[in-house]
Amino acid sequence: MYKIAFLPGDGIGIEVGNSAIKVAKVVAEHFNTELLITEKLIGGCSYDEFGTPLTDETLQACYDSDAVFFGAVGGTKWETLPHHLKPEAALLKLRKALGLFANIRPAKIYKPLIDSSSLKEEILEDVDFIVLRELTGGIYFGEPRGYDDEKGFNTMIYKKEEVKRIAKVAFQLALERNKKVVSVDKANVLEVSQFWRNVVINVHKNFEDVKLTHMYVDNAAMQIVRNPKQFDVVLTSNLFGDILSDIAGMITGSLGMLPSASLGTKYSLYEPVHGSAPDIAGKNIANPLASISSVAMMFNYSFQMKKASELIETAINKTLSEGYRTKDIFSDGCKLVSTTEMTEIVIKKFKEVFHEQGLGVFTL
Ligand code: NAD
Repeated sequence: MYKIAFLPGDGIGIEVGNSAIKVAKVVAEHFNTELLITEKLIGGCSYDEFGTPLTDETLQACYDSDAVFFGAVGGTKWETLPHHLKPEAALLKLRKALGLFANIRPAKIYKPLIDSSSLKEEILEDVDFIVLRELTGGIYFGEPRGYDDEKGFNTMIYKKEEVKRIAKVAFQLALERNKKVVSVDKANVLEVSQFWRNVVINVHKNFEDVKLTHMYVDNAAMQIVRNPKQFDVVLTSNLFGDILSDIAGMITGSLGMLPSASLGTKYSLYEPVHGSAPDIAGKNIANPLASISSVAMMFNYSFQMKKASELIETAINKTLSEGYRTKDIFSDGCKLVSTTEMTEIVIKKFKEVFHEQGLGVFTL
């Protein structure tokens, strides 16, 4: 049995979050696994109810869980609140409280959507890599920081332990994939990057089956667009990862398709990359696939159920190859479906692939 803290949040977070949980329940049932789901408020809806975007009760539910599933937070209604009460502050606080230092963003091509990318088909075919971003250190948190009338400044700092633990995750992930890590830095200009590189090289000594190379961040940005097939695991710091994960995500098409996982030593959180999309909230038109794909990551990383994870991805692929599309990824000749219809179709495809693979025995 696995415990999930389910935090749908605001706007389409509620719609796509419910889709994801619905899929998770069906998948678990097919693999004879029980999910204990505790739903809590977070973000704007929590502020409306309790005067804070993140309550102790919600935080405790996360501490008590094997995995946190998060929808999205935010909306125009709460835009004028002071910074610490804004819905978005809840997510930052949550990541920090759970010690989520490793952010994983896959860049994977769904073949039926290859046309929706701005890149050519031959460049994109078979692209499948992940950007692993250090999430709790670096320039976003370094002290001193500030500005006055004459200057502005931030501090890019990494401690050995911070680099060691994220490098370890990179090599471990690579061992499960194509055994290649590219560590991205700016070691030709920044001392902190030279330090990062030295530590990564040291950690690599324990992972000699993995091929390690280094790349400057400006080159990495260029290579992701020029020849993304060369990558397997891209290891990078907080600031560089923020930028590179967006580039990597968008070469694959729509915001509604991008999942993510954030891992710590004890806790983990899964969420779609997109926000609460107030412009389409409540209309049952949001694309639930980023959320459903985040569920696949949850089964893989938190529950070590790789087969379940693969079948969810296969079901998404089948749904797309049969032409089903929500509005954001719709093109001529496809079948336009709502959020709830898309969810039901993925569930149907999951059941089909499950039985096609002779896995029915698990449910007997
Ligand atoms: P957004 O990601 O919510 O939306 C950007 C655009 O993409 C919108 O046009 C939206 O309709 C579309 N879109 C996003 N997800 C979609 C989906 N699943 N299906 C179809 N279309 C989709 O970004 P934004 O508009 O900049 O922000 C809206 C709110 O979300 C803000 O309050 C922002 O702070 C918040 N936000 C939250 C998170 C989070 O909770 N992790 C992340 C980003 C933004």
